[in-house]
Amino acid sequence: MDAACKRSGRSPDSVQLICVSKFHPQEAVIEAIKSGAHIFGENRVQEACGKFADIKDQALKLHLIGPLQTNKVKQACGMFDMIQTLDRPSLSDALLKQLEQVGHIPDLLVQVNIGNEPQKAGVLVKDADNFIEQSLKQFPGKIKGLMAIPPHDETPDPYFEKLAQIASRHGLTELSMGMSADFEKAIEAGSTMVRVGSALFGPRPTSF
Ligand SMILES: *Cc1c(COP(=O)(O)O)cnc(C)c1O
Repeated sequence: MDAACKRSGRSPDSVQLICVSKFHPQEAVIEAIKSGAHIFGENRVQEACGKFADIKDQALKLHLIGPLQTNKVKQACGMFDMIQTLDRPSLSDALLKQLEQVGHIPDLLVQVNIGNEPQKAGVLVKDADNFIEQSLKQFPGKIKGLMAIPPHDETPDPYFEKLAQIASRHGLTELSMGMSADFEKAIEAGSTMVRVGSALFGPRPTSF
């Protein structure tokens, strides 16, 4: 990460490392904390709650990076510091309801389906500007930026650039892009959060 920052003339503290601990047990998280990790990414609300409930404190930050079902919003808002996967109006409605009831919600990123892939979550590129505008109005101060996962089998650079362009149109500064295989390219394209799993924890166990 430092080398990629250096290559692109960026300060190393302009990029956060989100340690993706999904499928790995709590012991792996504790090991990572001992090595200095303090931001973790999880895909599933249930799994994250089981793993982090008894070790979560102010210094440990947790980001939801997987799709959020509306019936899990309440639980997710109680556990996560950031939800990176706001991607549809029904989820906005559920978050608004939570905001009204409790008075606060986690910070949010809008997930963009940057390759317009049918099997992937995220708002389609053609709908992104409208959805972001709407979200900025609905959640003042809460929308920090955008998140995307480029198509698996293509060079990611043009997708990273496209996401950065959309963010900049809306004055959004956080860009969650880059995983184990492409975080250096993502940093060179302006990523402010890389979500790294297997490069830190090794291959994921197939079941949790
Ligand atoms: C699993 C996952 C990652 C981490 O992937 P690695 O290739 O193991 O680094 C990053 N982002 C999301 C959304 C994921 O689901």
